[in-house]
Amino acid sequence: MNAKGIKNLNLIVLVLFLAVPFSVFSQQQFNDFFETKTLRVDYSRVGDKDSSWIILEQLKKEVFWAGSKTELIDSLNLGDYYFELYDSASSQLIFSRGYSSLFREWLDTDEAKKLKRGFYESIVMPFPKQTVKLILLTRNRNNEFNEVFEHYINSKDYYIKNEKAPNFEVKTILNNGVSENKLDITILAEGYTAEEMGKFEKDCERFMGFFFEVSPFLEFKNDINFHIIKSISQESGTDIPGDGIWKNTVLNSSFYTFYSERYLTTLDIKSVRDVAACAPYDQIYILVNTSKYGGGGIYNYYNLCSSDHANSKQVFTHEFGHGFGALADEYAYDDVPAETLYNLSVEPWQRNITTLANFAEKWKDMVNNVPIPTPDEAKYKKSIGAFEGAGYVLHKVYRPVHDCKMRSNSTDEFCPVCQRALIEMLNMYIR
Ligand SMILES: [Zn+2]
Repeated sequence: MNAKGIKNLNLIVLVLFLAVPFSVFSQQQFNDFFETKTLRVDYSRVGDKDSSWIILEQLKKEVFWAGSKTELIDSLNLGDYYFELYDSASSQLIFSRGYSSLFREWLDTDEAKKLKRGFYESIVMPFPKQTVKLILLTRNRNNEFNEVFEHYINSKDYYIKNEKAPNFEVKTILNNGVSENKLDITILAEGYTAEEMGKFEKDCERFMGFFFEVSPFLEFKNDINFHIIKSISQESGTDIPGDGIWKNTVLNSSFYTFYSERYLTTLDIKSVRDVAACAPYDQIYILVNTSKYGGGGIYNYYNLCSSDHANSKQVFTHEFGHGFGALADEYAYDDVPAETLYNLSVEPWQRNITTLANFAEKWKDMVNNVPIPTPDEAKYKKSIGAFEGAGYVLHKVYRPVHDCKMRSNSTDEFCPVCQRALIEMLNMYIR
């Protein structure tokens, strides 16, 4: 074959490669590259509005890997961040995931304009058998991913920590089969003392009941496992800094994240991952023992909800819409100009909001005989359209329906666009 022939052959190989769906790994290929255990990579993301750095903290080996053994490559293009794992010898991409963290949200606060801060972050992947190259990527304002960190990991390096998980009791409260073909949701106790573990177990049963009242989860009940970890706190409740209340709790959760009273989160990702390692998990749910309204959900990171507010039922699945489904909030504030949060010439990455820059990428296929943008009038109350006001801004960003679980607590349903995104995500875990 002459040189031109070789070039053409390369082109054919490239075209074939691109034409193949990304999720083509077989279980055998998983076994070639990975053990059924977790490699956890912890790092700090430090910086401010203009620049940031990744600083490696530690590597750990953990005993469970609950994820799919065939859906190894994530081609959903969701999340503020993304990581890729390459087999070092062959340069083959063998694992990838999109995710988000609190650092990206913090960048939109005033504090990030004048102060550098560090946020501890952690990502998990199946444990490689050989040396791998890890690449971290960050989305830029045009919504493209840029590489920000590269590190070779020798899986036989004796500095990869191999400590036992904390000694907390684990109980599986819904068992539909082996983790690799199921979505494993693991609930961590936060702000529950040893004496309150009976309450924690009852709370988990109650929230699992709420969870399966909501579509599409109720239709996928047989594809989901629920585990609970009885992680004990020294004190009951959680921090409420605005009221001067501080509690010694196992996961260090707090209201008033970024000075927003109802924003209940934890920055202590290290403790969250340490406790979560007690059980198999695809999604971490932190249940906080308080009657105060609040919660938070960060894509492929964790979900968090208070246990005893009258609206906790709605909040539980709303936050899971963020943490599991990568969905945006569909509500708006009246004091945030769209341009400060969005580049209006491109689509935001979340499936359920649009700038109309390229509506065909979003849910245009689900719209029938409704004007775009859609007037928020009574006759379109049940229609799928593009209603102005979503993603924290009143203008220039649009949501699919008049009301949805991602917009308010007055409905307990995800809209059809959110449901479609959730089903697409469910399929990443159950094959
Ligand atoms: Zn929705």
